[in-house]
Amino acid sequence: MSNKPEETLDPADWEEARALAHKIIDDAVIHVSSIRDRGVWREMPDDVRAALRVPLPEEPTSLDQVYDEARRTILAYPMGNIHPRFWGWYMGAGNFTGALADFIAAVDGSNLGGGNTGAAATDRQVVDWLKEMMGFPASASGTLTSGGSMANMVALTVARNVMAGVDVRLEGVTSLPQPLRFYASDQAHSCHQKAMETLGLGSRSLCLVASGDDFRIDINALEAAIQADRAAGVKPACVIATAGATNTGAIDDLQAIAALCRREKIWFHVDGCIGALIRIAPQNRHLVDAIETADSVALDPHKWLHTPFEAGCAIIRDRDSHFGAFNLHGEYLEIKPRGLAAGEFLADYGFELSRGFKALKIWMSIKEQGVGKFGRLIDQNIEQAAYLADLVKSDPRLELMAPVPINIVCFRYRMDGADESALRALNNEIMLRLQESGVALPSDTTVHGRHCLRVAINNHRTRREDLDLLISEVIRLGDEILGGA
Ligand SMILES: *Cc1c(COP(=O)(O)O)cnc(C)c1O
Repeated sequence: MSNKPEETLDPADWEEARALAHKIIDDAVIHVSSIRDRGVWREMPDDVRAALRVPLPEEPTSLDQVYDEARRTILAYPMGNIHPRFWGWYMGAGNFTGALADFIAAVDGSNLGGGNTGAAATDRQVVDWLKEMMGFPASASGTLTSGGSMANMVALTVARNVMAGVDVRLEGVTSLPQPLRFYASDQAHSCHQKAMETLGLGSRSLCLVASGDDFRIDINALEAAIQADRAAGVKPACVIATAGATNTGAIDDLQAIAALCRREKIWFHVDGCIGALIRIAPQNRHLVDAIETADSVALDPHKWLHTPFEAGCAIIRDRDSHFGAFNLHGEYLEIKPRGLAAGEFLADYGFELSRGFKALKIWMSIKEQGVGKFGRLIDQNIEQAAYLADLVKSDPRLELMAPVPINIVCFRYRMDGADESALRALNNEIMLRLQESGVALPSDTTVHGRHCLRVAINNHRTRREDLDLLISEVIRLGDEILGGA
């Protein structure tokens, strides 16, 4: 036996570690509190990028130095979504309490696959709160996931298994007595196609139904597609209603879809990654009426609850079906009546076994702020989007490209007589110059064949003056580009 002292990853000097940890917190406070003074985004310079590319480190480096390098080369070039003028794609803006909670969760270190721990009890509590926000009964179940894509996947897996007409877990999809069809609007998020592919059903099993001028699913076309499938021997399995479409924020007619699904005995799923949480917003909650009648809902705390990435959630009305889709225990993972392995096993409700303590950042920020604050912030973003739409409408150089039912504004700089490709080139250039200047960060999209800038105001730091600046910059850049600059 060797007499060599054992090694550990713990600091050799805890006092030194403590001092650095305090400095990291001090830097973090400065970083977040001064966010408005910096640009939204900037390109990572080539030399900085190159400095990151080094061979696998063999030798130790002091943590002081490692942190200093991270600050200079990594943390200096963030996405920018915590900035008040970030409105690209669809992010949350994070929150400081959530960031502290992520640190505390990592210190706690629990694995949320299961376990008789405070962390697991918190996970259950947060899922119960999210159920309550959605108006689901206590008997429903749910699981925290990495994000909305995974939350939708969990729900669609349960829907597939329940609607299959065969034990899919045992027999596999090749034994389906009839092909299954899922329906969503042509505005549905791409994660649903990925889910169909991953679930072995194939992308063709997802029927994308046309949306109308309001970008909501055409209910008559949906009904016709269902009848045509039945006549052709295909089994209508699930309607995926979108509550807050990624392009425009459109909310499908949940009431009508609920009634249709009840009548046709089809699983009613709501992709509420953007809009489900509107149910806690006092001014706008009516927009998602009937979400509480769904068989399943996917939502994203890392969007309108501003939970630092990542946190999604799937909620399933029928707990037994949810458990039935995922429960499985190796002989090394028996649930016991007492001790650490007592109680419900969280991994029985999803794909993942080892899971992080995502619940804490949601739990702490909801406790701290109260759910009412989050609801008001959702209303605030929706009001800001209406304000922005008014700014667009009041300038003849700009054109609103879609209705603004919630917090997403699609618009473009117009050019009389120009064709679509010239308009696309112009607005694309405006967007890129805005991003590169660091002044504001919109993204772009194409709605019903027409390209436009897209501003998704999912940001608790945005003020109306930020939107004033956005519009004046878009106009300045449009004029400049057309002027030949
Ligand atoms: C964001 C979004 C998703 C995907 O969620 P992630 O958290 O990014 O995985 C799914 N559906 C809709 C409508 C979304 O907006």
